[in-house]
Amino acid sequence: MGQNQQANGTAVYRAGGNMDRAAQGSPLVGVGVGGPRARALHIEYAVLFYLMQGLGSILAIWWMLTHQTGWVEWSMFITGYLVINFGVGVGYHRYFTHHSFETTRWMQTLFAICGQMAAMGSIINWVADHRRHHAFGNVPGDPYGPTVDGHGRPMSGFKSFWMSHLGWLHDNTYSDWAIYAKGIADDPVLQFCHRTRYGWAIVSMILAPAAWGYFLGGPEHVIGTILIGGSLRCFIFSNGVAFNNSLAHKFGYRHFDEDSGATNNWFSALLTFGDGWHNAHHAAPRIASNQVTWWEIDINGSTIHAMEALGLAWKVQRRPKVTAKVLPRHMQKMFIFKSVPIVADSEYLVVRPAGGTPTSAGGGMLFADKSSPEEQLMVPAANSAVDTMEKSAALRSQ
Ligand SMILES: [Zn+2]
Ligand SMILES: [Zn+2]
Repeated sequence: MGQNQQANGTAVYRAGGNMDRAAQGSPLVGVGVGGPRARALHIEYAVLFYLMQGLGSILAIWWMLTHQTGWVEWSMFITGYLVINFGVGVGYHRYFTHHSFETTRWMQTLFAICGQMAAMGSIINWVADHRRHHAFGNVPGDPYGPTVDGHGRPMSGFKSFWMSHLGWLHDNTYSDWAIYAKGIADDPVLQFCHRTRYGWAIVSMILAPAAWGYFLGGPEHVIGTILIGGSLRCFIFSNGVAFNNSLAHKFGYRHFDEDSGATNNWFSALLTFGDGWHNAHHAAPRIASNQVTWWEIDINGSTIHAMEALGLAWKVQRRPKVTAKVLPRHMQKMFIFKSVPIVADSEYLVVRPAGGTPTSAGGGMLFADKSSPEEQLMVPAANSAVDTMEKSAALRSQ
């Protein structure tokens, strides 16, 4: 990986002070360790998660116990939750990461701004980390895998749960944008959203709830609406998304026998409007809807199909008609049942197509690919996920 590649992928951070010099030093290609950028992420996540969301939520609970709260505070909570879920679940995840559909420039911008209002950090880091999660899925290189930490070290027990949940935010590693944020890091609108991310977090958690409380309830509702409709709302949503990495890689049932160990988990599906049907998602990351059975309601998937009906989305990726056997996990064990993958990995888990230029998991390359052809994603040959990718690439090129 050349110096040039580093420079390309980190243009926005470099503009802020050349923060990406330390992307060397990890045995995992595409993984940066330590240095100013890792330190900046420590601070960013501490401010957004632990201070604005965490401390704000503790104060929200105290406020609920000591003050009268009602529809003003909770209507902000619900409205805001719908907005940030739309931005992250439909936008960051299914559109920017996995390219499940095409949409207009205005919708891209709307997704990005709504997503930034979830206060989960930069859209570019979010997408890069998530593409890397799919590219490696449970082997060294996965930023929030259930069995390996961000440095590729094996883990188990509660540590594995915590690191895949939120602990990975502070593991001193980060994703190389040159590889994992193609088409994202070099987009001017997304660069703008990245640079203004603290501003959107403040709008979402403070200014909008304050205005909501003031105009709908009066001055005495301002603080309660900020705490409940701002901080607590973002805190619960962030944890819902994190549950997709922790709970939905450990607990639940599986339709498909794919390598990441992802499960369908109803609790995280509830909090993230369908993203918690995570086994179905990992089996075929580009598919717009995770719904396999009638009761696995996927609101984010339905949103995309509604957008399609309105002409706001097109080229929506659909799951081939299948008959999946559905058994709870304990029954799968009882009957030594392994459901057959209904969608071949080769269709979706394309990370390195023939020719060598890396794309990201799910073919999530957006906009124009400005990478040079000599850029190569170099990965250890012994890596089983890479073997899968190479097979994928070979199949693709046929
Ligand atoms: Zn996952
Ligand atoms: Zn995904």
